[in-house]
Amino acid sequence: MEQKQCDLCAGTEFEQIGDRDRHGNSLESVICKACGLVAHGKIPTDEELAHYYATEYRKSYHGELTPSDRRVMRAWKNGERIFRQLQPHIEPDAGVFEVGAGIGCTVKVFELNGHQSTGIEPGEGFQDYSQQRLLTNVVRGDLFEQPRDHSRELVLLVHVIEHFNSPRRALEYIRGMMAENGLFYVECPNIAAPFARRSKMFHYAHIHNFTPSSLKMLAESCGFKLEVQFGSKEDPNLQMLFSCSDSTELNIDPDNFKQTMQVIEQATPVRYHLRPWYVSTRFSKVASYLREHLTAKQFVADVVQECQQFASDHEDEQPAELRAAA
Ligand SMILES: [Zn+2]
Repeated sequence: MEQKQCDLCAGTEFEQIGDRDRHGNSLESVICKACGLVAHGKIPTDEELAHYYATEYRKSYHGELTPSDRRVMRAWKNGERIFRQLQPHIEPDAGVFEVGAGIGCTVKVFELNGHQSTGIEPGEGFQDYSQQRLLTNVVRGDLFEQPRDHSRELVLLVHVIEHFNSPRRALEYIRGMMAENGLFYVECPNIAAPFARRSKMFHYAHIHNFTPSSLKMLAESCGFKLEVQFGSKEDPNLQMLFSCSDSTELNIDPDNFKQTMQVIEQATPVRYHLRPWYVSTRFSKVASYLREHLTAKQFVADVVQECQQFASDHEDEQPAELRAAA
């Protein structure tokens, strides 16, 4: 194995835990023996990632340049769920900034609820949709071009941290963007969730895979303090809200390596299929996909209508570039 350093703890000893991605293609996955962070054996460079996102990503992952109604509906409901979750913890006028805003649904939900709300998204298709259909203030942009002026009150990072080749670099950068009383919300897949299937676990685009403990360790060593962990232990996604802290101390959880290894060793297809509720959830999943197709079109039409109504009600307050785009 190539010599590399763990992004979390700078450790250099790894154990291989996988050699295939979820499509059966060659992809080495390793775990850091010191802290338990799971990552690719070979971390892609910035250039390799740029090439991947420009070519393969849309085909293999999103599969679409413009989001489908079903995707928009799901993203909108997800945005509403994130808003409901965070609302009790944030000031009613806190400014919101989302890194990797995707379709922009979450940004828009916060805006409709009275927050000044903006975001950046590198993907052209989704960013176009966001600005033109939902009239969001989501612009095309890169995290590392944002000013580090300690102005951001609430930063959202939803299903993005796993895509960075150095999540430490990203979190340290974000910390510099944040107001001292700012809050930072991170959501990403939880590799320690029960019944994750080992053969489905790894994906080229997910360069680092987090457990609750490894996300907490990383964030705390980048100047954040865990305030709230949402969701249950069974939840397939980690949902954590952090405040800013002056400490960047790295406190390694000595159990994370062992516990993560146990989870991975248990995550076999047999176990997955033997879940007693597997059959019924599969069936209800198919039924709910069908329902989704039928309702998504109307749902999105209603959302777009609501966004346009909101924009015309608040026309005077919109930034000039958005008025021009609309
Ligand atoms: Zn490590």
